[in-house]
Amino acid sequence: MNSWQNRNVSKLNYLPTGDQYHADPQRYSHTVLARCGNTGLQLPRIALGLWHNFGDDRPFQIQREIIRKAFDLGIFHFDLANNYGPPYGSAEENFGRALAKDLASHRHELIISSKAGWDMWDGPNGFGGSRKYLLSSLDESLQRMGLDYVDIFYHHRPDADTNIEESMMALHDAVKSGKALYAGISSYSAAATKEAADIMRELGTPLVIHQPSYSMLNRWIEEGEPSLLDVVAEQNMGTIAFTPLAQGLLTNRYLNGIPADSRIGAGKMDRDFFNDSILDHVRELNRIAQQRGQTLAQMAIAWILRDQGDRTVTTALVGASSVAQLEDSAGALNNLEFTDDELKLIDHHAVESGVNLWWDATQSRV
Ligand code: NAP
Repeated sequence: MNSWQNRNVSKLNYLPTGDQYHADPQRYSHTVLARCGNTGLQLPRIALGLWHNFGDDRPFQIQREIIRKAFDLGIFHFDLANNYGPPYGSAEENFGRALAKDLASHRHELIISSKAGWDMWDGPNGFGGSRKYLLSSLDESLQRMGLDYVDIFYHHRPDADTNIEESMMALHDAVKSGKALYAGISSYSAAATKEAADIMRELGTPLVIHQPSYSMLNRWIEEGEPSLLDVVAEQNMGTIAFTPLAQGLLTNRYLNGIPADSRIGAGKMDRDFFNDSILDHVRELNRIAQQRGQTLAQMAIAWILRDQGDRTVTTALVGASSVAQLEDSAGALNNLEFTDDELKLIDHHAVESGVNLWWDATQSRV
């Protein structure tokens, strides 16, 4: 074989196979960014969550395509937790596989978060806010994802049975050990958030982000004096709102009944969440979205991200069961502006609808 043939043979060895992923070089041209509170950390205004759709009950290839598409769309923040699946832990394992196959060379571009606080393993220390639970769980999450560190580690829910200083000290130590770069909390009330933020500032690891539920059907974070949004702004933290589509209710998914392959149809969400009153509001909201030239999902996300001054939400944390859904949701970024008239019209239908599954946890420490 001459030297010319040699070169071609070695080149052939590196030719991409059909399954090889090359990130879109234009990906950051799609991204709209926001600074997370007063930190140096910048987040995409839409992030992808892996609570549902990334467990062992879903084909890995579809999961992988959604993750690849997210990155190509400039969605570089992926949110996980110890117990996402089913079974618990499998979403982190599957994400770790996708990461190793497709995104390993982009690790430093990614913001990967995990959490502990809800139920994970049997026995009294597989739930809550103890140091033992939070730090052992973080070690296991890192192992499942094949990572040395997560970018953000959250206490997933307040725990009234654990001294808040102990939970905060565990977050502080997670950051000090280098296993997490930043610390956050989820579903804490306004008062508990202030308490937690004060402790963390004293410890020298400021809390940088709060992850609450928030959607047009669940507006608790706007309510109260001060509201959670007020406290988060005062504390210079960012806000990443989960379930902005109310688990799919604020999309075209249920406009004409309950599809068998939907979250409710597949029995992964209580049918009681879906009733005539919600459907009436959702249909009206869908009409407003059409007038804006958006899908309902796009308007629901844009509304989360609307300008609320210093209380503006940093990021909408969406789920997706297909690439098409994610592409549709990402289109929200094309129009984040609302007129006052549109906002007033939306307010008639953006009303409390009993979809906040996390309310009792929030109330456990106020
Ligand atoms: P979501 O965005 O409100 O709902 C996602 C669901 O809506 C999808 O599974 C899909 O339903 C449907 N959907 C999404 N985009 C659509 C589109 N463009 N058109 C039509 N339907 C669409 O959020 P979520 O999945 O419930 O939660 C998002 C993330 O928030 C989670 O993955 C997790 O990271 C985080 N989270 C955190 C907590 C916490 O305690 N901190 C709790 C819950 C969630 P189908 O599956 O029916 O197709």
